Amino acid sequence: MELKINDTFTTELPGDPIRANTVRLVDNACYSFVEPTKTAAPKLLHCTEEVASFLGIDKETQQSDDFLKVFTGNALLQGSDPYAMCYAGHQFGHWAGQLGDGRAINLAEVEHAGKRWALQLKGAGLTPYSRTADGLAVLRSSIREHLCSEAMFHLGVPTTRSLSLALTGDEVLRDVLYNGNSAYEKGAIVCRVAPSFLRFGSFEIFSSKRDTENLKTLVDYTIKHFYPEAAQGTKEGYIQFFKAVSMRTLDMVIQWQRVGFVHGVMNTDNMSILGLTIDYGPYGWLEGYDKKWTPNTTDAQHKRYQYGQQSNIALWNLLKLANALYPLIEEAAPLETILNEYKTVYAGKYMGMMKAKLGLELDDENDQELIAELEKNLRLTETDMTIFFRNLSNLPKAMVLPEKVSTSFLEMVKDAFYQEDELKGETLWFWKDWMGKYLARLQKETATDAERKAKMDTVNPKYVLRNYMAQVAIDAADEGNYTVIEELHALLKKPYDEQMEMEKWFVKRPEWARTKVGCSMLSCSS
Ligand code: AMP
Ligand code: MG
Repeated sequence: MELKINDTFTTELPGDPIRANTVRLVDNACYSFVEPTKTAAPKLLHCTEEVASFLGIDKETQQSDDFLKVFTGNALLQGSDPYAMCYAGHQFGHWAGQLGDGRAINLAEVEHAGKRWALQLKGAGLTPYSRTADGLAVLRSSIREHLCSEAMFHLGVPTTRSLSLALTGDEVLRDVLYNGNSAYEKGAIVCRVAPSFLRFGSFEIFSSKRDTENLKTLVDYTIKHFYPEAAQGTKEGYIQFFKAVSMRTLDMVIQWQRVGFVHGVMNTDNMSILGLTIDYGPYGWLEGYDKKWTPNTTDAQHKRYQYGQQSNIALWNLLKLANALYPLIEEAAPLETILNEYKTVYAGKYMGMMKAKLGLELDDENDQELIAELEKNLRLTETDMTIFFRNLSNLPKAMVLPEKVSTSFLEMVKDAFYQEDELKGETLWFWKDWMGKYLARLQKETATDAERKAKMDTVNPKYVLRNYMAQVAIDAADEGNYTVIEELHALLKKPYDEQMEMEKWFVKRPEWARTKVGCSMLSCSS
């Protein structure tokens, strides 16, 4: 397979001089060279046509033995020199020191059609950063990453992409619930694709060692390639860089909130410097709208990374990044200003996003209250976020107020309620009250019903990768049936389209999935 390799990361940044693949602490380096481990019996399960094509890999090549070998660790891309990246991070609020790519190996940066992409295998074996772990990934978490990163992209959420999903033929020992019940699972490798896999932690590692020289080299590199709008090599430029990273991060979180995505492990080593969703682990999708929900059992006690906290956590992570960049700026005030602005900008953008979900284009002084009341109502009884907002766009604005309305409104959104019989008494009253206000508010809009619906349907997805859907794909794959992966991949390419033949996926979470491991409970074990 001939791809045009143009490595900037390893040619412009300092590397670890040691090539031996032994676990160690690495100083003065952004990466260590390391080759993927060969796998026993690789089998390609799925390739994302679109990603392959923007990398310049044609259909025939995708099906070739060469492709299979390269993306499962059994052959190197011609002219490549693979490496693992060195970074540190704050995990669950605490400084964790050096982490690094413990099981991710960057193959190369590939240039095609005027763009450059880093290709990275996840689960490709031990690296100098594997610490006490095995460098591998299992099929279930690899299916989840492959499907979700593509689903997020098509939803319009900034994310890393996934080129391929393959079985390795090797067995991997995992204790899914960390309760002493280890079992062998099928090993797998995903090839992720992004302009860069740099994380906040990539910068934190240098400042933690007071290594300002390497910090500067890395920041200058990042600005040159990914933030050319910031001035090169000046304090002013570093401040502009931090501001741009903050805004990209903020925009990413707004999109997460819009579609109901909960990342689950927002540690600073899992925060992309490009504002991309990265490291799909114990993530989940809101089904019942619950701001306190997190899918990650590792975080069950404190719920640090719950849905409603994602913006604050992103801000906390940005503060850590600001600390890391401080030695280059030596002035706290401009960084503080940016962090303070984040809160106001976020509030404004969140409001805009929620208004778009409700089909409100004009401004009204009561909009904030209308949205706050809706969020309260959505928690009165378990209410499916995706179905509620999607069905809301069917509401005719000319509906007569107030009595008939309530019945028709409830008819419209009733599929979103998990326990329909809870819609009585006070709960029913609150809903009727809100609906009356919403309808009255809609009267002020100039758009027709059809126009409003068309717009709302571009921000309220019909299909997301519900937690149980990924699990259905995983269960089938465990039995050797990979058709569900194909089906979901195709479905989620058009999450805003009706796709009538796919209605079976536009349903609430089935009861069996409420407490099932993998659907409502996920751990970091992957
Ligand atoms: P995560 O929170 O999953 O992003 O992982 C935190 C750190 O642990 C990162 O440095 C990962 O590279 C590393 N890590 C996670 N799983 C493994 C594994 N199976 N083998 C080696 N390193 C791992
Ligand atoms: Mg990670």
